[in-house]
Amino acid sequence: MDFSYSVEDETFRDELTAWLDENLPKFLAEWATSDPDAEDGDDIAGAGSGGIMGSMERRRAWQRKLNEGRWAAYNWPVEWGGRAATVTQSVIYAETMARYRTPGIFNANGLWQIGPMIIRWGTDEQKNRWVPNILDAVDHWCQGFTEPQAGSDLANLRTVAIRDGDDYVLDGQKTFISSAHIAKWGLFLVRTDADAIAEKRKHDGITALIVDLEVPGVEIRPIRDIAGEEMFCEVFFDGARVPVSYRLGGEGEGWKVAMGTLENERVGTASLAIGMRSDLDAMINLAKAVNPAALDDPEIRERIARAHTEIEYTKLLNYRALSKILKNQKKWPEVQIAKLQWSHLAQTLAELAVDLLGPLGMLAKGGPDAVDGGAWNRLYVFQRYTSIGAGTTEVQKNIIADRAINLPRN
Ligand SMILES: Cc1cc2nc3c(=O)[nH]c(=O)nc-3n(C[C@H](O)[C@H](O)[C@H](O)COP(=O)(O)OP(=O)(O)OC[C@H]3O[C@@H](n4cnc5c(N)ncnc54)[C@H](O)[C@@H]3O)c2cc1C
Repeated sequence: MDFSYSVEDETFRDELTAWLDENLPKFLAEWATSDPDAEDGDDIAGAGSGGIMGSMERRRAWQRKLNEGRWAAYNWPVEWGGRAATVTQSVIYAETMARYRTPGIFNANGLWQIGPMIIRWGTDEQKNRWVPNILDAVDHWCQGFTEPQAGSDLANLRTVAIRDGDDYVLDGQKTFISSAHIAKWGLFLVRTDADAIAEKRKHDGITALIVDLEVPGVEIRPIRDIAGEEMFCEVFFDGARVPVSYRLGGEGEGWKVAMGTLENERVGTASLAIGMRSDLDAMINLAKAVNPAALDDPEIRERIARAHTEIEYTKLLNYRALSKILKNQKKWPEVQIAKLQWSHLAQTLAELAVDLLGPLGMLAKGGPDAVDGGAWNRLYVFQRYTSIGAGTTEVQKNIIADRAINLPRN
């Protein structure tokens, strides 16, 4: 690992902290009075007792506030409202936002994945039409890739899009699509070459389409998750018509478009580890207040020490990936390992949190005595997703074994 911050990096950090010092306390004070429920642990691991869906209007307002200061799409090109932040500056951004425990944003999929993809692959007309609304949180966007038969093996997707004049006609099913029920638009992967799977070239013939989710032939059914929330959905297409002009990239280029998106997602999850230190501090402070005896328990003390060490290790792993990127070396397998480490730590910390709270850790949201509105209890069940989303643990391990360690296949 070998890098140092340049003058530009330090200026970036100073500008961001000055902006946060000026705007964040005011924003939090405004929302504490207009939406008191949002106070209850709303900043715990990026959500609160109401989950991500429980604070969408506050998130919309925060994304808009960030955008006023050009801090929402900090890594987008300047002409599209960003600051063209470098990789180092993106790490500074993630660290600073975690340290300040800022609220979550309205549309992470839109800002982190879909917006950059439209800027990279879209025509001028597409960019002008969709990018400003993503940035200013006007419309919510979802990312529609997974299908019942195509999750880890995404290229097996079978939702068909058949060309009919100036439209594609869609039939098929997507599943686990986050926030589709509140989205106006989605970036979907569909199959435009029906023979490709049978001919064993399944990565061909996939096309990326932007879909208006309010047109006839689209049905969205929320799925109730383990935390009792409706965060993701099944999306059914039954003859839905999508104009050809909504295609992102060429016909059959969907795999290339998607890989850019997923790469952004993986780098994004790696940086999430940075927020864990403040979660750990928050849970220790909470235990001091509501269950101090837990902090005398030698087993708990050892787990806290271990968590500190692992967080530090994860941070260094991320820095190592950063150092490689800056030296134009391949940033892998650090990013894959950091993804594994993030999901392991997320679950370990959530388990530690409920144990630190003792009996109070069992009180779920809605209970009158629940601490932080039950946010830690919710986190305990919700964090199971971290070993599934953005690439499952087993598949990530396969990739590392196969390509980094070169283990024999048989
Ligand atoms: C909270 C959450 C939000 C999500 N949001 C979205 C979204 O917005 N958009 C979207 O498109 N998708 C979304 N997903 C779906 C996610 O991308 C998939 O769940 C993921 O890709 C895994 O696919 P699957 O669920 O079909 O599981 P499968 O791929 O069927 O895997 C099932 C099990 O088998 C294991 N397995 C699979 N293949 C192998 C192998 N080759 N070797 C060893 N083990 C294997 C897996 O590790 C897993 O344990 C979301 C999922 C979650 C949990």
